[in-house]
Amino acid sequence: MSAVAYIGIGSNLGDARFNVRRAVRALGEAGCVRQLSSLRRTVPWGRTAQPSFVNAAVRLETLLPPRELLATLQRIERRLGRRASYRWGPRVIDLDLLLYDGMRIEEPGLLVPHPRLHERSFVLEPLTEVGAFARGSEAP
Ligand code: ADP
Ligand code: MG
Repeated sequence: MSAVAYIGIGSNLGDARFNVRRAVRALGEAGCVRQLSSLRRTVPWGRTAQPSFVNAAVRLETLLPPRELLATLQRIERRLGRRASYRWGPRVIDLDLLLYDGMRIEEPGLLVPHPRLHERSFVLEPLTEVGAFARGSEAP
């Protein structure tokens, strides 16, 4: 049985739009990308003295359980050139597992729904675009 996951994508180093598009393509490794939101420019959050971000979200149909999906996101981040940085600092790519079916997960290193999802319009708006809050959104 496949699951429906929503992935948040962000970049603010190098060619940010290009990095986001590369990440979307790479997400094919994690499943089938069903919908991509618009790519939006957002001012940095948390630490503001850094380049603006490009943010987007995708709806992904996946056979991977949540942990394996997170591991795949982290592998893609590393391959696309993400280096360890401080929290909310500049990054080539950031892939967050925002929602996974209707699941609530609270484990060390994995919180779903993503804990900062509700605070950030640059996450909520793309999520809305790809149907996360639509009626019947659990269907692929
Ligand atoms: P943020 O995305 O909050 O700016 P980071 O990407 O640097 O910060 O945080 C990555 C850490 O967050 C990882 O260690 C990962 O285990 C943890 N984490 C917990 N829940 C999630 C989630 N739902 N999606 C992505 N990373 C998560
Ligand atoms: Mg992250």
